[in-house]
Amino acid sequence: MTTRDSSDVLVMGAGPSALFIVAELVEQGLKVTALASHTPQKPWPNTYGIWAEELESHGMESLLGHRWSNTVSFFGDGSSPKGQQPTKHDFDYGLFDQSALQKALLDRCKNINWILDTAEEINVLGKETEVRCKTGNKYKARLVIDASGHRSRFIRRPNHGPVAEQAAYGVVGRFSSPPVEKDQFVLMDFRPNHLTKQEKKEPPSFLYAMDFGDDIFFVEETSLACCPPISWSTLRARLQSRLSSRGVEIREIIHEEHCLFPMNLPLPDRNQSVLAFGGAASMVHPASGYMVGALLRRAPALGKELAIAIKQTPLLDSTSLARKGWKVLWSPELVQRHRLYQFGLRRLMSFEESELRNFFATFFRLPRKDWSGFLANTLPLPKLILVMFKLFSIAPWGLRKGMIFGKKSNLN
Ligand SMILES: Cc1cc2nc3c(=O)[nH]c(=O)nc-3n(C[C@H](O)[C@H](O)[C@H](O)COP(=O)(O)OP(=O)(O)OC[C@H]3O[C@@H](n4cnc5c(N)ncnc54)[C@H](O)[C@@H]3O)c2cc1C
Repeated sequence: MTTRDSSDVLVMGAGPSALFIVAELVEQGLKVTALASHTPQKPWPNTYGIWAEELESHGMESLLGHRWSNTVSFFGDGSSPKGQQPTKHDFDYGLFDQSALQKALLDRCKNINWILDTAEEINVLGKETEVRCKTGNKYKARLVIDASGHRSRFIRRPNHGPVAEQAAYGVVGRFSSPPVEKDQFVLMDFRPNHLTKQEKKEPPSFLYAMDFGDDIFFVEETSLACCPPISWSTLRARLQSRLSSRGVEIREIIHEEHCLFPMNLPLPDRNQSVLAFGGAASMVHPASGYMVGALLRRAPALGKELAIAIKQTPLLDSTSLARKGWKVLWSPELVQRHRLYQFGLRRLMSFEESELRNFFATFFRLPRKDWSGFLANTLPLPKLILVMFKLFSIAPWGLRKGMIFGKKSNLN
C-alpha cells in the first residue's frame, strides 16, 4: 500500500467528462492526478452524436466521423401519404469519430500520469481529500472531481423517487434494403403504423437511424425516458417489427448498442466536499439525453474558477474549493433552466404516442434558433421561458392542456 504525493486536483474516470475536465485543468497549469479503472486509451463503448453547430462554434467539427445535412424526423401516423411526410430539420447533425475525440482530448492532457485503479472510498480530511482504491493505495488532492459517470456512489443527491431512464437498442449493420434514405439522418421516427392497438397504449419509442455509407446503416429503437425503463428485449422486438413492416431485414450485425442512462437524476447536493463533472453531476440534458456539448461548453469556466481558487488561496480547504466549483457548474441560472427542462420531461413522459408525435411536430415548427438553443441548453433563462411560451401558443388546444397539467403518468 502506498500514499502518493498530493496533487491540486484528482479526477476519477476516463470517459468524455473526465477527459474534458482533466484537459482544461492541465491547461490551467494545475497539478492533476487522473485515476481510472481502465486505461484512458480504451475505446469508449458509446457512439456520441451532436448537432454540428455545437462543434463549429468551438472549431472542433473536424472531429466528426460522419456528418449529415439531410436531417429529418417523422411525426405523422404513417398511414397515409401525408402521415409519411418527413419534418425537415435543415440542420447538420454528426457522429463523433470517437477515437479522434478521445485522442484530441488525451493530447491536451499533457504529462499526466494515469493511475489505473478503482476508487472505493473518499475521505475529506480538511485541507485535502483522500481517495482509497481497490489495491489499497491512497491518493490525496486538494480537490477530488468525480467524473465516474451517472451511477457514481460518491455523489450525494436528494431522493426524489424513481428515476426515469433513456433506453435504446441499436444495430450497426447491413440490411436487405435501406432502412433510411441514402445520406439521411433520422432524429426521431415516431410513425406508429406497425403497432397494434394495445402496443400504442404502451410507453412510446422511436427510431433513431442513419446511413453510414457502403451499405451500412445504424438503426436504434429508443425510448426518450421511462420509469421503469423499457427493456432492451422489448426495444429489440419493436425495432424488428418496425423494420419488417417496411420489408427490411437485418442481414449482418456489425455492432450492437445497448443504451441505458438516467434522464432526470436529481441535481447533486451543492454543499458536498467532492465535486463532480458529467454524468455524475447530472449534466445530461433532461429533455434530450445529450451531454457532450455541455461538457465542451462548461469545462472551461469550471477549470478557470478552480485554477484561480487553488492558486490564489493556498489555505482553502477541500469543501470550500468544491463549493466554488459547484457554484460555477450549477449556477442559479443553470439550476432554474434545469428545473424547467425537468418539468418539460415530466410532461413528455405523461404523453401517449399520438400526443408525443403531436408535441414534437409542434416543437420543430419553432424557429430553428429556438429549438436548437432549447436542445443545446444555450438559451438564457428569459429566452428559454419565452420559447416555452411560444411553443405553448402555437400548440393545438388538446396539447396545451397536457403541456400544463400532464396526462397519465408512466411514473406510477
Ligand atoms: C449508449 C449511450 C449513448 C449515448 N449517446 C449520447 C450521444 O449521442 N450524445 C450525447 O451527448 N450523450 C450521449 N449519451 C449520454 C452521455 O453523454 C454518456 O452517458 C457519457 O458517456 C457520460 O460520460 P461520463 O464521462 O460522465 O461517464 P462514462 O462515459 O460512464 O465514464 C465513466 C468513467 O469512469 C470510470 N469509473 C467508474 N467508476 C470508477 C471508479 N470507482 N474509480 C475509477 N474510475 C471509475 C469508468 O471506467 C469510465 O471510464 C449516451 C449514453 C449512452 C449510455
